[in-house]
Amino acid sequence: MSFQTDLLNHIPIDPLTGAIAVPIYQTSTFAQEAPGVNKGFDYSRTNNPTRQILENLGAKLENGAAAFAFSSGMAAIDAVIKRLESGDEIVAVADIYGGAYRLFEKVYAKFGIRTRYVDTSDLEQVKAAITADTKLFWVETPTNPTLKITNIPAIAALAKQHGILLCVDNTFATPVSQKPLDLGADLVVHSVTKYLAGHSDVIAGLVVAKTEELGREIKFYQNACGTGLAPFDCFLTIRGIETLKYRFQAQADSAWKVAQFLEQHPAIEQVYYPGLPSHPGHELARKQQKSFGAMLSFHLRDDTCESALALVQRLQQFILAESLGGIKSLVCLPCEMSHKTLPAAARAQAGIRDSLIRLSIGLEETEDLIRDLDEALSPLFNKKISNHIPIHS
Ligand SMILES: *Cc1c(COP(=O)(O)O)cnc(C)c1O
Repeated sequence: MSFQTDLLNHIPIDPLTGAIAVPIYQTSTFAQEAPGVNKGFDYSRTNNPTRQILENLGAKLENGAAAFAFSSGMAAIDAVIKRLESGDEIVAVADIYGGAYRLFEKVYAKFGIRTRYVDTSDLEQVKAAITADTKLFWVETPTNPTLKITNIPAIAALAKQHGILLCVDNTFATPVSQKPLDLGADLVVHSVTKYLAGHSDVIAGLVVAKTEELGREIKFYQNACGTGLAPFDCFLTIRGIETLKYRFQAQADSAWKVAQFLEQHPAIEQVYYPGLPSHPGHELARKQQKSFGAMLSFHLRDDTCESALALVQRLQQFILAESLGGIKSLVCLPCEMSHKTLPAAARAQAGIRDSLIRLSIGLEETEDLIRDLDEALSPLFNKKISNHIPIHS
């Protein structure tokens, strides 16, 4: 049976009523027949029927033993870090999501958990950062916003060799494109807010564990800290996951064409998209991803914040906003927005220039997006070129 069919089969018909859509069990507590005798649910912080269906779906999506839904991507990341103890160390990807950086540096550092940031696409840098206290590798691949690719099987082998756990933030790739647990990772986290939910209408997170044992640990923190996802948000997320594959494929196809257009544009210095042969991670992405994804970024020849800002303001089809992965195309200036919490030096280390512009490609028609970009870029070059450039598909 194909994966998508199997996935849809994991969404049960409601046994009580035959409802096709998953019911929203908006209840805090459940009647008990006798003390401790119940139908598998006693309190919604601990377990809720709507959440349980989403969590089964999450485990299925990533081929994990168990999955847990959280009130945000950050709460999901937080549950993984809570496994660590004072004195433990993390080796994390340098161009890390800004919120994860803030969590590691402003929350966990004061509890004695230290993080070393390296370019995880270079295994030698990862090796050099390992100490006797390293307990966790934290990887995003592709990264945000320069789409660097880390070799998951290689870093997983290194982790095993040193008894270190590997967690991959799979938000950008989605399980449609890449399944880190199959490639050797121990844990996967998602900002479900992005592609999995997919409609910019919910904040949610997911942790998927490769083993039952790791799953029990994550479940413990979800319950102990009260960070589980609310029933209505679980419902929205389930509905998003039902169409994830087709949304993501269409968005990725469009992104590939937009990337080709931008790469040939004379006002643009460089495009970061793993589907382009010019991208340093292209060959690796071909191997470990099924799709190059729907995120891309670029910087201008005129590498100033003012130019980038003016360009972004000329765009009509791209909404200036944080976040990504929804059905509407978004544009973001990482240095002013998503990565503002990173100090300038960390931004430079991560290759985030002043004029770097990040696009999240949505479900609008590709030609409309390209025309919009062309018009917005034309003052930087004095003419439009979209009519003259053949876009190969
Ligand atoms: C958005 C994002 C997060 C945080 O998720 P929230 O749902 O906003 O809490 C974590 N990692 C990546 C890669 C993200 O893009």
